[in-house]
Amino acid sequence: MSKLLTIIGGGLAGCEAAWQAAKQGVSVKLYEMRPNRMSEAHKTDMLAELVCSNSLRSKDVSTGPGLLKAELEAADSLIMAAAKESEVQAGSALAVDRNIFSAYIENLILQNPLITVVREETESLPDKIAVLATGPLTSQPMTQSIQAAIGAEHLHFYDAIAPIIDAESIDSSKVFLASRYGKGGDDYVNCPMTKEEYDKFYDALMEADTVAAREFENIKVFEGCMPVEVMAKRGRDTLRFGPLKPVGLPDPKTGKTPYAVIQLRTENREKTAYNMVGFQTRLKWPEQKRVFSMIPGLENAEFMRFGSIHRNTYINSPLHINSDLTMKNRPNIYVAGQISGVEGYIESTAMGLIAGTNAARRLNGLEPILPPRTTAHGSLVHHITASDPKHFEPSNINFGLLPADEETLRIRDKKKRREKMAERALKDWTEFVACKMKG
Ligand SMILES: Cc1cc2nc3c(=O)[nH]c(=O)nc-3n(C[C@H](O)[C@H](O)[C@H](O)COP(=O)(O)OP(=O)(O)OC[C@H]3O[C@@H](n4cnc5c(N)ncnc54)[C@H](O)[C@@H]3O)c2cc1C
Repeated sequence: MSKLLTIIGGGLAGCEAAWQAAKQGVSVKLYEMRPNRMSEAHKTDMLAELVCSNSLRSKDVSTGPGLLKAELEAADSLIMAAAKESEVQAGSALAVDRNIFSAYIENLILQNPLITVVREETESLPDKIAVLATGPLTSQPMTQSIQAAIGAEHLHFYDAIAPIIDAESIDSSKVFLASRYGKGGDDYVNCPMTKEEYDKFYDALMEADTVAAREFENIKVFEGCMPVEVMAKRGRDTLRFGPLKPVGLPDPKTGKTPYAVIQLRTENREKTAYNMVGFQTRLKWPEQKRVFSMIPGLENAEFMRFGSIHRNTYINSPLHINSDLTMKNRPNIYVAGQISGVEGYIESTAMGLIAGTNAARRLNGLEPILPPRTTAHGSLVHHITASDPKHFEPSNINFGLLPADEETLRIRDKKKRREKMAERALKDWTEFVACKMKG
């Protein structure tokens, strides 16, 4: 078998995959369609362009992004090396100068004797061993080729995601557990509102600042993913007949039906994280924090993920991707980056690292290696391959995805508990990296 790996897409995931594969002695052809064909959001012809914010989020290892970055760094990630080289001051976050960042990556890729960059669009899934890393804005012909391989209904385009809240930051004295009409036990956390509270919240929501829709995102939003602020504009009471409807949810403290109720649905079995039902939104992140913290019980809510709506081409990965990141019905294709069902720059990079490593190992005649479940990488792989496909949503990395065991659950202080989980993750990751290099 020739040791040539095709990588489609020179974004964050594709560049990381190329770097990791070359480190394993494999030759790489990296296909990038820009500048011949531009995506709707990219502005340059540079490899690994950051399409929006210049932040790679927190550096603190007791946060999901901090831990994931520490793991990437320990695995000699190209993207992390570039981030360190181009860092600008941003408090506890790792922010970068986007031009220096992309230039650093492009230089190292171009200088690598094993990597050839081909500036061409790839229009269909190849038959040879390849990494698909075409990102959330995958070009149209490739989108059709993926649809043909997995079925149109399993490739999603618009991401309407609601915020996720850390369970421990919810004020339990103000909320109650119940399901509407008592169907389904205590599945939901319910935040009841009086008329006065609802009116204040509604006014704040109406005045809040939203992220400008990009031209390509000016889609006619269908009801199922309508932003909460757009729905609210239809009338003061619309939300009370929609996601905030109180019927069937009497407050056990008063025995009465509240004026409005916000429901929070658990995100994981451990019930450490909750999703705000119906709260997909285009509000700016600080505005989400400000306005949603007005909801009773959420005054000190810690947002593990904020809501958003944008074009996002991604595969329903639990149905179609194996744990080594190969496609189930096209096992020569490794899926990496945002299209694999993760969300975010560093998460996309992480899936590039795993896909590039495993594709190269295959070409070298070696078994795939799977990151331990206890690590941030392992938790992302678990999320995209083992979630319920019926309710699958892309996720960024957060501690809600990491498994807590008895030892860590005994630690009551959240920060200390996460530090312990991070310590365990980094230990397991170090062993994984050593084994990855050995073959
Ligand atoms: C508008 C928008 C804003 C975002 N903002 C943020 C943010 O602020 N922070 C954050 O963490 N995440 C953000 N994301 C999410 C995501 O993390 C980034 O999109 C990230 O760049 C994904 O990495 P990737 O490598 O999977 O894809 P990309 O970085 O997009 O790379 C994919 C590459 O493939 C190329 N390509 C596409 N189709 C083909 C083809 N057929 N042949 C050859 N090349 C092809 C593209 O030109 C591109 O260079 C945003 C996403 C979008 C769409």
